[in-house]
Amino acid sequence: MDFDKSFSMTIGGNAVVGASMFDVVNPANETVIGQAPDATKEQLDAAVAAARRAFPAWAATPIDERRALIDKLGDAVLANIDGLKRLLTSEQGKPHADAEGEIGGAGYWLKGASTIELPVTVNEDSADRYSETRHVPLGVVGAIAPWNFPMVLAMFKVGPALLAGNTMVLKPSPFTPLTTLKFGELAATILPPGVLNVVSGGDHLGPWLTEHPDIDKVSFTGSTETGRRVMRSASSTLKRLTLELGGNDPAIVMPDVDVEALAEKLFWAAFTNNGQICIATKRMYVHEDIYEPLKEALVAYAKTVKVGDGAEQGTQLGPINNRPQYERVLDLIRDARDNGYKFLLGGEQSDAPGFFVPITIIDNPPEESRIVQEEQFGPILPLLKFSNVDDAVARANASEYGLGASVWSRDDEAAFALAARIQSGTVWVNETQHLTPLAAFGGMKQSGMGVEGGTEGLLEYTTAQTLVRRR
Ligand code: NAD
Repeated sequence: MDFDKSFSMTIGGNAVVGASMFDVVNPANETVIGQAPDATKEQLDAAVAAARRAFPAWAATPIDERRALIDKLGDAVLANIDGLKRLLTSEQGKPHADAEGEIGGAGYWLKGASTIELPVTVNEDSADRYSETRHVPLGVVGAIAPWNFPMVLAMFKVGPALLAGNTMVLKPSPFTPLTTLKFGELAATILPPGVLNVVSGGDHLGPWLTEHPDIDKVSFTGSTETGRRVMRSASSTLKRLTLELGGNDPAIVMPDVDVEALAEKLFWAAFTNNGQICIATKRMYVHEDIYEPLKEALVAYAKTVKVGDGAEQGTQLGPINNRPQYERVLDLIRDARDNGYKFLLGGEQSDAPGFFVPITIIDNPPEESRIVQEEQFGPILPLLKFSNVDDAVARANASEYGLGASVWSRDDEAAFALAARIQSGTVWVNETQHLTPLAAFGGMKQSGMGVEGGTEGLLEYTTAQTLVRRR
């Protein structure tokens, strides 16, 4: 069942419309699919005040009750998977099957995160003294999500922040606000008023939120560039921060792999969601012994993939999500062409409506080229040749980013040892992009600060408090 086409913010448990609204566009055909409220500063203040009012009672609610409500919220997302997935495809562009995967992942994330325990450390239990360190909530969390996985990345924040006893004001990207607004309406039927507020708006809203004096922590997912701005504006009130930022993930493909069997997996490592994944493979280092056959197998597989409107049956890749990102991707393609790099596939631009970029594979461009050094966040993959594994590791690590990476080999012991030499927050062997609510995920270097997921991710929504009793 599809949702109705009216979208409101959720503030203090109430549906609130904007004084003005802004258009949300379907990236597959550039038509307006709905209008989202453009929050005023007063509406943001009201959302923060509602979260502040709800905080004492929510923090005092026994953790097992909070757990049960977050689990129930996960069930509500799963129960609405059909409507939410259609809405997500229409605003994000990803095919229905992928949108279903994302909404399912969002529900699963809430349910999984709700099971994590908050640890208590007993520091001393002697005849003289008892001392324990526990982890108490921070207060009001401002959560900011990007447009590539609007729902699942928002749930990375909602589950742990609420479980730890915080309340929240959640802001989706202006390119993909609609699914999150509907989620807010669902949440209002389950959570006490004010525990989770959802606000939408244009470019002014993020800075208002990160500067807000009554927000205690900001959890941000987005680009490294915006992450720096968030850190600057959070400094005025010393807000706690978690920053999940950009990546330029290398894959290292060793000479012993079964090229034919692997080509499809490697293709999707780079191209799932059109490469618009922070942990997509963005540089593929392939050993020279298998470079030619792997290149051919990748191109042959790529030619079988159907690109189109995500709402159409059989589409495997949709459009780029929005015009600014579309322009960035086209600029990288132009740069590669101007520099004379060899295109194995793609590289041309279509005049049809929609932000479509063809699957593009570039043959061994120079290491210093923009397509290797920058985060493309689109369907363009540079294939790079290496002959010596130490050189491949050095090139993989020569990046300001350090989010994810992967190593592919039949010798998984050796590959595991190689994985540990890569400076990334997560390194996978013979798979990629596997995330769970029960394991820490985050970036090294300029890919972020702090983690989401696991006990470590839960603790980021708390502050340590040591209680000491003299006997
Ligand atoms: P973005 O940085 O442009 O925007 C992210 C969010 O920040 C949006 O909600 C936006 O409205 C908001 N925002 C923009 N300017 C702001 C400001 N000055 N203050 C506060 N908020 C502001 O990122 P994007 O283009 O939406 O997403 C793509 C980027 O996100 C890529 O770099 C990708 O690698 C990264 N990303 C990282 C992860 C991760 O977990 N590390 C996950 C997904 C995406």
